[in-house]
Amino acid sequence: MSKPKIATTSMCGCFGCHMSLLDIDERILELADLVELHKSPLNDIKVFAERCAVGLVEGGCSNDENFHVLRTFRENCDILVSVGECARTGGIPALRNPIALQECLTEAYLHGPTVYNPGHVIPNDPDIPLLLDQVYPCHEVVKIDYHLAGCPPPAETIWAALQALLSDQPLQLPYELLKYD
Ligand code: SF4
Repeated sequence: MSKPKIATTSMCGCFGCHMSLLDIDERILELADLVELHKSPLNDIKVFAERCAVGLVEGGCSNDENFHVLRTFRENCDILVSVGECARTGGIPALRNPIALQECLTEAYLHGPTVYNPGHVIPNDPDIPLLLDQVYPCHEVVKIDYHLAGCPPPAETIWAALQALLSDQPLQLPYELLKYD
């Protein structure tokens, strides 16, 4: 019998949530018995070739490519999970939200105290994904089924969530796995 497939992605995040997933240590072997890892930066599979049972999304949406990736995950995953504060709230990247995009770009590329940019050019190559006016949490872009809090959520939390979701159990995690103070 074929195993259920999971997919993961990192959008506007730092990969810390993926590192936390890998922190399940030797249980990674159990996970490999339980699921087949499909599209993910962990195996460099770049496109969905098959439908996935669970998609784990790290990071919010900061550019138009993030929008596209997130919508692709929604279309191809039965259950979509926002993993970590960047996915849930925009996280640290969303600190730019109160500031106009042009002002952010000007500070970052022209006027910042450590900037060296003799050409006074703000990157504008059409191959670079366009920055959005602000950083959006995933649930403001597509329907998200579950949220895992924390920066990052602990490995135990991600493991318990995956076990529940892959065995059709309700995702009722104990307080010890949900607090992140
Ligand atoms: S929630 Fe924290 S660990 Fe996860 S991507 Fe954002 S900054 Fe990194």
